[in-house]
Amino acid sequence: MSKIIDGKVISSRLREEIAREVEQLKKAVGRPPGLSVILVGEDPASQIYVRNKEKTAKELGFKSEVIRFPDTISENDLLRKIEELNNDQSVDGILVQLPLPEHIDEFKVTLTIAPEKDVDGFHPVNMGRLLIGKPYLVPCTPLGIIKMLDYEGIEIEGKKAVIIGRSNIVGKPVAILLLQRNATVTICHSRTRNLPDIVREADILVAAVGKAKFVKGDWIKEGAVVIDVGINRDENGKLVGDVDFEEAQKKASHITPVPGGVGPMTITMLMYNTLQAFKKHVGMEGEQ
Ligand code: NAD
Repeated sequence: MSKIIDGKVISSRLREEIAREVEQLKKAVGRPPGLSVILVGEDPASQIYVRNKEKTAKELGFKSEVIRFPDTISENDLLRKIEELNNDQSVDGILVQLPLPEHIDEFKVTLTIAPEKDVDGFHPVNMGRLLIGKPYLVPCTPLGIIKMLDYEGIEIEGKKAVIIGRSNIVGKPVAILLLQRNATVTICHSRTRNLPDIVREADILVAAVGKAKFVKGDWIKEGAVVIDVGINRDENGKLVGDVDFEEAQKKASHITPVPGGVGPMTITMLMYNTLQAFKKHVGMEGEQ
């Protein structure tokens, strides 16, 4: 039986540390770190995500504001608001909740956010810095995965890491982070041939596919570390990951559950990034 990597426990430890640091810095700097979240439209999932981000930010002592716009807002007006926040000295982190309505170009929005305030880490400057080994703000889910592995004392160097999924927000950045920690990395995707055979070689498996129970138990190497990023509903409407948890648990040395694994880490890393952005903004060097 494998050890369950409990994202809630790790998250709450990290959140305590962040809150402590925020408390100290607030006194030294004279203001708390500021996070501005822009929400466009009424998408129910986005509303929940944004509410959770705001709640967590407040719990940890940040100044947090949610700026809501109707989905009829023009692209220009949205970009103007972002520029205003870029120039606002009390704002350290800016996040625009995705997805955006179709008439707004998401890439233009990402490009408009000042890289040093881009707490999602999606700006090409932040992505590029990650690629060349000079990370500034790193996408939250991949960063959370590395923090989980470190927390559990799992060695990365020299291990074979297989990532299923090549998205810009999860698959690609987690591959780069694992590479920087000296893993031998294979990225798989929808056109990969013989996927189960490749997965069978993984010492560390990261599944970021978005398909319920896609990864079968017999794909898992004995003793592998399994990180399940997926958030899906099964045929009964139950929340499940990309990995068949019951089966994989019999083979893996460590495994993340869904829910309660990677999910809680993502918001925690958003807070972590906002704190790093704040420290850099006020001239105290942040870290990754
Ligand atoms: P995405 O749809 O952008 O990417 C999915 C990837 O899976 C693609 O790169 C695709 O090539 C690959 N894929 C699809 N079918 C495949 C197949 N048959 N074989 C191999 N690869 C295949 O998704 P994403 O944004 O990277 O998210 C992936 C999952 O992670 C989703 O379930 C999403 O909800 C979840 N997610 C969770 C968190 C979190 O905080 N826990 C954060 C982001 C995403």
